[in-house]
Amino acid sequence: MDLVLNYADSSVLTPYVYPATWPEEDPFRQLITLFIVTNLGGLVIYFLFDTLSYYFIFDHSLKKHPQFLENQVAREIKYSMKSLPLISVPTVAIFFAEVRGYSRLYDNIEDSPYGWFGVIFSMLSFLFFTDMCIYWIHRFLHHKLVYKHLHKPHHTWKVPTPFASHAFHPLDGFLQSVPYHIYPFLFPLHKVTYLGLYIFVNIWTVSIHDGNYRVPGALKEIINGAAHHTDHHLYFDYNYGQYFTLWDKIGGSFKNPSAFEGTGPHDCVKKLKESESSNMGNGCGHEKVQNGDSLKNK
Ligand SMILES: [Zn+2]
Ligand SMILES: [Zn+2]
Repeated sequence: MDLVLNYADSSVLTPYVYPATWPEEDPFRQLITLFIVTNLGGLVIYFLFDTLSYYFIFDHSLKKHPQFLENQVAREIKYSMKSLPLISVPTVAIFFAEVRGYSRLYDNIEDSPYGWFGVIFSMLSFLFFTDMCIYWIHRFLHHKLVYKHLHKPHHTWKVPTPFASHAFHPLDGFLQSVPYHIYPFLFPLHKVTYLGLYIFVNIWTVSIHDGNYRVPGALKEIINGAAHHTDHHLYFDYNYGQYFTLWDKIGGSFKNPSAFEGTGPHDCVKKLKESESSNMGNGCGHEKVQNGDSLKNK
């Protein structure tokens, strides 16, 4: 984060905003700047990637799904807008510790103990470490004593759109991002690589809510995509993972996505259309019964 902070200071804040007498390394000034930068960055990432995904990837026929809520997109955006500033408060505290030099982030590839190999290895280890932590944090959030207080709002959206990607209770959103923040305090990581990974994980979070259930054949068993995560929104107790199916398979919570079995949300919408034209029930009976059971318990 100090790369972003230095850039903001040198290009805008020092020459145009803060008084010349206020040193760049003053902790209070750094906290204010980090708060502004984190919120602006969050808004840019949210609206840029979610809007692109909503208009170019999201299949708008899903809005006809019986569990798609009225004004859902506006509600997802409104909930995210209320949560993002609150999520940013503890996030800024961690960024501040990082800027003050308490993390193991390093500037140059030469500082890596194993050169380029170390940098590439750290990318993989970041993904596997955060995937494992998010899996267990997410399972904890589904514990019956915790769920209704923190995680339930994110499950308001049964058939999510990309705008649900950051629509969390603030504490839920922060807890699920903790693994990204603690990794560079535990393990050495290249600063630019960390920035890239941080943007990547935000885009990934959008992508698992984008309603595009296609995954290349060989990766279907390995990657936790939108098909897996939509089933998590619909059926609750399956597919808690973030990028991989690994921990769901270890933890016994893996469910082959309904979209891969011809009973997913798109199939439901298709059947609904057919049954409307032939007047034969709603065509989503199977899905509604399962979902009804789950909803009762939640
Ligand atoms: Zn969940
Ligand atoms: Zn979700």
